[in-house]
Amino acid sequence: GSIGGHTATGDRRRRVLFFPLPYQGHINPMFQLAGLLHSRGFAVTVFHTDFNAPDKSRHPAYDFVPVPVVSDCLPPEGSSDAFQVTVQHILAVNRACEAPFRERLAALLSSSESEQQAQQEDDDVACLVADAHLLTLLDVARGLGVPTLVLRTGSAAGLRMFAAFPVLSDKGYQPAQESQLEAPVRELPPYRVRDLPSTTVAYHGVISEVISRIVTAVTTSSGVILNTMDALESGELASLRRDLGVPVFDIGPLHKLSPAASSTSSLLLQDRGCLEWLDAQAPASVLYVSFGSLASMSAAELVETAWGIANSGHPFLWVLRPGLVRGTPPSSSSSEAPAPVLPALPDGFDAATRGRGVVVRWAPQEEVLEHPAVGAFWTHCGWNSTLESVCAGVPIMARPCFGDQMGNARYVEDVWRTGLTLVDGEEIVRGKVEAAVAAVMGPGESGDGLRRRARELKSSAAECMAEDGSSWTSVDKLELMILNSAL
Ligand code: UDP
Repeated sequence: GSIGGHTATGDRRRRVLFFPLPYQGHINPMFQLAGLLHSRGFAVTVFHTDFNAPDKSRHPAYDFVPVPVVSDCLPPEGSSDAFQVTVQHILAVNRACEAPFRERLAALLSSSESEQQAQQEDDDVACLVADAHLLTLLDVARGLGVPTLVLRTGSAAGLRMFAAFPVLSDKGYQPAQESQLEAPVRELPPYRVRDLPSTTVAYHGVISEVISRIVTAVTTSSGVILNTMDALESGELASLRRDLGVPVFDIGPLHKLSPAASSTSSLLLQDRGCLEWLDAQAPASVLYVSFGSLASMSAAELVETAWGIANSGHPFLWVLRPGLVRGTPPSSSSSEAPAPVLPALPDGFDAATRGRGVVVRWAPQEEVLEHPAVGAFWTHCGWNSTLESVCAGVPIMARPCFGDQMGNARYVEDVWRTGLTLVDGEEIVRGKVEAAVAAVMGPGESGDGLRRRARELKSSAAECMAEDGSSWTSVDKLELMILNSAL
């Protein structure tokens, strides 16, 4: 249960500073964590970059500190190699934010100090919670005497794999050789070589650097917060607790633990009309298709995806994000950007699917997955999407693209057995899409087994969120640690 703490130090609240990595899949869990700590009585300050900036009007109780960055630091979208560009961009964000963050954090600390001397009632800064990708900024905060906690927005298994990455590279698993892709990673089951993040020699250096910075960010902090649950990853959490040398807080799923109002951190406008359309559909009849905010596909794959969905014969809700197809303009949230153009669907698709499907730019995904009409989720297996699907008890059709997505898909298929991988490292073709939809959504043993295990996993996940469940116990421990300055 909650210890409902308010103040450890008289009338002053403790203030927690947050700095999310400015991507949708990182902003959402950071705001959910902020909402959770705010509901426990902490004051909240959010540092943010000027691109992909949060909508302050949705969070009137928070303070916001903009950190202006130079203009060559734009978000990666619509590029031919989303992973390579994203990895470079993460390093650029660290560099670009370093000096302005130092200046703004120092200003915030000195103003709160002088107000305390003037005996005014104000909040004292307890710590900074930053994304695990922001090592440079964590170092800046520690340099100014601010204790740090890290939010790692991926799975426990993914973090364990990152910690093992240098060893796996020494053993020759990385960069991967084409002929070895199906081989098991003996040191780290259930991974196969193809599930590891770096598959080409050219990118191995920069990917190793980004991974090693994540591990350093975690091990030099006062603790790491993971958006996961004991029911999903008890062995992986135990192994991290043994090996990392810092406290590990399994506080997930954040989208369920956090008060609902604080989860509104979508950068794109969510089309809520599709919920009404779902209301009119039969239970478990709809295929929901979304590849998250960064993954991309070729124009040819878009055509195959469209016909695969059409030929499956199932009703569908498809998120066709601007920038999904390589070479089309991105969905930048900058107010000066021209209205993004949606990728064009193949001729004849509308006629073939009339009345059977809805295509939107961006959906209220959590609500969509919770809707009884949704029967399966075709996803890129980003960690947030994977967790949201698990909590809703929806079976998965996986098409992982990069980074930790292949590993997430491996757990879905081989460990939780709540879904199957459609294509991994190959081009999408319509025949495989049709076969996978039939296997996941159709009658028969395969679909029945997936649906049953998805329901079972949903109920074990619910136990972690019960009053004395593992996730709330970790929230209580985290709260005590911050309140008692045990950082
Ligand atoms: N999302 C959404 N609407 C959509 C698609 C995705 O609100 O149409 C949200 C989704 O609920 C999730 C996040 O965007 O919280 C995507 O994060 P994830 O880790 O799945 O993927 P990423 O975008 O980081 O690759």
